[in-house]
Amino acid sequence: MEKQELKQVELLATKLRRDVLAMLQKRGYGHVGGSLSLADLYAVLYTKHLRHRSDNPTWDGRDRIVLSKGHAGPVMYSCLAEEGYFPGEWLFTLNDGGTRLPSHTDRLKTPGVDATTGSLGQGTSVAAGIAYALHLQHKDNYTYLIVGDGELNEGQCWEAFEFIAAHRLSNCIVFIDNNKKQLDGRCEDILYPFDYTEKMKAFGFMAQCVNGQDAEALDCAIQRAKDNKSSANAIVLDTIKGAGIPYFENAEMNHSMKWNNDEINAATDEAIAGFDQRIAALAFELNGQSKACPCSGDDDTQARACTARIQCDEGGEA
Ligand SMILES: [Mg+2]
Repeated sequence: MEKQELKQVELLATKLRRDVLAMLQKRGYGHVGGSLSLADLYAVLYTKHLRHRSDNPTWDGRDRIVLSKGHAGPVMYSCLAEEGYFPGEWLFTLNDGGTRLPSHTDRLKTPGVDATTGSLGQGTSVAAGIAYALHLQHKDNYTYLIVGDGELNEGQCWEAFEFIAAHRLSNCIVFIDNNKKQLDGRCEDILYPFDYTEKMKAFGFMAQCVNGQDAEALDCAIQRAKDNKSSANAIVLDTIKGAGIPYFENAEMNHSMKWNNDEINAATDEAIAGFDQRIAALAFELNGQSKACPCSGDDDTQARACTARIQCDEGGEA
C-alpha cells in the first residue's frame, strides 16, 4: 500500500478502537476483546477492498461481509458509522431496548449488515449460500466471511467449509480471527485446534496466515486471495484479543468485560484520549487539518466521543 493509504487505514482503525471503547463504556459491558482484534481487518477492507455504498446499503453491486462471530458487532457498527451508514450517535444505543444496534448483528435492524449472526457457526452456512448464489449468477461480488477461532468448535463451520471448497467458490474469502481465546478461556485448553492454516488447506482452500494487526500484510493477503480464481480462499489472522490497548490485551478474561470499576474506566479514558490525539495527528497529516479533538476534562463519555468524532470528521478525511 502507498504511504497515504496506510495512514488512511491507520486512521480508520484508530477511530474504530476509540468508538468500540466509547460505546462499550457507555453501555457498561460488552464484547471488547474480539471486537478490537478485528479493527485492522475492518479498516483494510473498508478503506481499500470492499465495494459498498453507504447511501445505498442494499446496492446490488456490493460485496458482502458476513460477521459470523456476531458478538463482535461493536467493531462493525463503529465501521458502518464511520463510513456514513448511520449517525455516530446510534453507537451509544448499543443493546438498548428498541435499538437499531443489537449486541449481535442483525440484517433487519442495521443498515450495512447483510447477515443476522451470533448463533455461532450459522454465519458460515449463510456466507456459503450467498457466495454460491452470486457464483451461479456469474456476478463478481465477493463474500467476506469472518469467523472466530472459538467458533470453529461448531461442526457447522466445517460443513460449510466443505461446501465452499468443493464448489471452488473463489469469490468467498474466509477470515479466521485466531485471537487464541474464546468466551471461557484459551482455545487450546478447551479444544486443541491444531494448525488452522493446514486444516483449511486440507479442506481444499488456498490458505494463508498473516499478522492480523498488520495492515500491509492483510492487504497483500487479501489481494493474493482475490487473484486466486481456482479455489476458495482462507486467511488465518494471527491476532491479539483486545489488540491495541495494553490493558485489554493483558486482561486474561477479555471476551466480554464490565466497566464496573475505576481501573477499567481509567484505562478506557486514557486509551480514548490517546486515540483522539492520534486521530487528530493523522487527520492533520492527511488533510492539513489542525483542529485537535477534545478528550480529557469532560465527565460525559458519550458527549465527548460524539464530539470527537464530529470534530474529526469535519476535516473531511478519508
Ligand atoms: Mg477467539
